[in-house]
Amino acid sequence: MRIIDGKECAQQVKDQIAAEVADIRAKGQRPPRLEIFLVGDRPDSLAYVRSKDKTCRALGMDCGLHLLPDSTSESDLTAMIDDCNRNDNVDAILIQLPLPDHYNSARVLDLIDYRKDADGLHLMNVGLLHLGEPYVMPCTPKGIMTLLETNDIEVSGEHVVMIGRSQLVGEPTAKLLIHNNATVTLCHSRTKNLSAIARLGDIVITAAGCPNLLQPTDFKEGAVLIDVAMNRVDGKLQGDVYSEATRPELEKRLRACTPVPGGVGPMTIAMLMQNVLDIYKIRHGL
Ligand code: NAP
Repeated sequence: MRIIDGKECAQQVKDQIAAEVADIRAKGQRPPRLEIFLVGDRPDSLAYVRSKDKTCRALGMDCGLHLLPDSTSESDLTAMIDDCNRNDNVDAILIQLPLPDHYNSARVLDLIDYRKDADGLHLMNVGLLHLGEPYVMPCTPKGIMTLLETNDIEVSGEHVVMIGRSQLVGEPTAKLLIHNNATVTLCHSRTKNLSAIARLGDIVITAAGCPNLLQPTDFKEGAVLIDVAMNRVDGKLQGDVYSEATRPELEKRLRACTPVPGGVGPMTIAMLMQNVLDIYKIRHGL
């Protein structure tokens, strides 16, 4: 079984971005700039935004990190997003989810100018992706597709079983797969006989957030598993299927598999950086 190394793939993407940004700077142009907004003090969200900020700077791009108290009103946040929309020196905007309960998240996300939408979650970008003409793609689905492509895993004509139908992962990934000529079965919490369906998949992608969702015997011989989930069990990260305990049996059964951690996770942040650079390039006609 081949372990699909998301860390290595993400590093290659980031090296390429750093080289392009260095080139932009060498020509005397300003580098791409991302503005990140976090409302509230969830420790996991704080760790995510700090990591995004650090990665952005490490690649030579500029980043504004706005850490706002939970009490920030939706209208105050709206005004700050408006400023960024109008500021020519801001290329991309990211609002860290989840927002506190007193926010209407969909409404806030749609305030971002869709041409500066770093996460690809604006209604316009959702629509364009569904039409097969994506402008900015959501980061995790884009990371999954990049991992498959760089590991020479062909999806055209293959039966892909996608487990999970969230707007963040499952649905957009299914759409991208369909546009790449895969035959897709989209499963969710009401799906009956999940194991039997998984066994039909040439490629199975799990994004349910349920440890031990499937057993290694629920895959056909030679299948590919992309395990997106990040479940913390006894203080350790594991996927919906992949764990240190299941790895030996998966190795006997599968052609290729993403580990958790070190699979899809590192790709998500690399794709965010790619989105920031790509938006900058479109805005500057590069
Ligand atoms: P989510 O919004 O909670 O969606 C979970 C999806 O899985 C839902 O569609 C749900 O079905 C389905 N589901 C739940 N239990 C199921 C079951 N027993 N059988 C079949 N389907 C089931 O979560 P998400 O944001 O998509 O994230 C999913 C997982 O991916 C989480 O573990 C998250 O941490 C991880 N994640 C990882 C990355 C990364 O970078 N690696 C990025 C994002 C998310 P219903 O629609 O019927 O409720």
